[in-house]
Amino acid sequence: MNILVINCGSSSLKYQVIDSETELVKAKGLCERIGIDGHFSYKPEGGIKEEADAPMPSHTEAVQMVLDALTNAKTGVLKSLDEIDAIGHRVVHGGEKFTGSVLITDEVIRGIEEESDLAPLHNPANIIGINACRQLMPNVPMVAVFDTAFHQSMPKKAYTYALPYEYYEKYKVRRYGFHGTSHSFVSRHGAELAHLDYGNSKIIVCHLGNGASVTAVKNGESIDTSMGLTPLEGLVMGTRTGDIDASVVEYLCKKEGLTVEEVLNIFNKKSGLAGVSGVSSDFRDLFSASEEGDERAGLALDMFFYRTAKYIGAYAAAMNGVDLICFTAGLGENSGPARARILDYLTFMGVKVDQEANMAASGVDARISADDSRVMVYAVPTNEELAIARETIALL
Ligand code: AMP
Repeated sequence: MNILVINCGSSSLKYQVIDSETELVKAKGLCERIGIDGHFSYKPEGGIKEEADAPMPSHTEAVQMVLDALTNAKTGVLKSLDEIDAIGHRVVHGGEKFTGSVLITDEVIRGIEEESDLAPLHNPANIIGINACRQLMPNVPMVAVFDTAFHQSMPKKAYTYALPYEYYEKYKVRRYGFHGTSHSFVSRHGAELAHLDYGNSKIIVCHLGNGASVTAVKNGESIDTSMGLTPLEGLVMGTRTGDIDASVVEYLCKKEGLTVEEVLNIFNKKSGLAGVSGVSSDFRDLFSASEEGDERAGLALDMFFYRTAKYIGAYAAAMNGVDLICFTAGLGENSGPARARILDYLTFMGVKVDQEANMAASGVDARISADDSRVMVYAVPTNEELAIARETIALL
């Protein structure tokens, strides 16, 4: 079966067509600057990448452009739209309502709309993508796969904030966690690679990219994760503060004459690695700058590795042990030096790195711990699109 996987942002749309039997990507691409001017890219398997500026006033035109490219007589990978058997949509926030993936119905769309307060930038864009596909392919079954769903297994003590309880009851203010599709995929696959029984294992997944989070997965279930009500909490990120004393908000409002919204915009978009270094939010830029002697780039990296190691230590305590640590996403799956810097903090728990294997592992599944390490460590490339395609098939 051919599964079209759609990941809609407010002005972008990423897509892939995945053959569910072979799990190979038949084509993929990206629509950018939707609603502004529009830029389209398309790459068929084994073919040449095409790119063009193209007007996209809304997501409907973007979806239409994707469908036209997929069925193009020369470069398309499908003869007609009838060959799309199902569509899997990434949806960011499922609140407490969605504890797993669901077949999309009118009621589900209403449910996603109701959670929009919790993800005002993301959920409305996801709904626009869903509606655009429904309009153009009304008879193709569609599935919503939520970033938050995997973390719905967290116990109350992990997801409750120490606020007056009424705010949870009235407004559902709590930890939700994100990157769930990635944490689920990587922990399961990591367990397979390490020959662990997933249902009886203690795994810590470090999803380290521009956005970054750590999850404790015990017996196949997320029991704690570093992101919170929104993806702002937890690790230091490309442009996000991660954990910070909430009093800083009031202090900066007073000192700089800013509104709460302005301070939160700084926390989300101007902080993290970019804010501390003043150089870049990108790890590769920071490594280069630090090697050339830029102290603040070095400090930003030190802070990132230190906080990540602290979370791993905390989650080892939360599970009373750990069998396996997995590194994934842009930095985690590609950078031996970054993994080494984090793992240096963890010798106390018996982590021993196979330095050669670690430095060699980039973008492939690889064991990077030594044979006599008490905790196994793997690099495991994430594949959220494949995970969404698998969920979609499972629900059909
Ligand atoms: P993601 O958000 O998962 O796409 O990850 C993006 C981040 O991963 C960027 O900061 C990149 O600089 C970083 N990254 C990707 N490849 C490497 C690499 N080989 N070494 C260091 N950082 C990398």
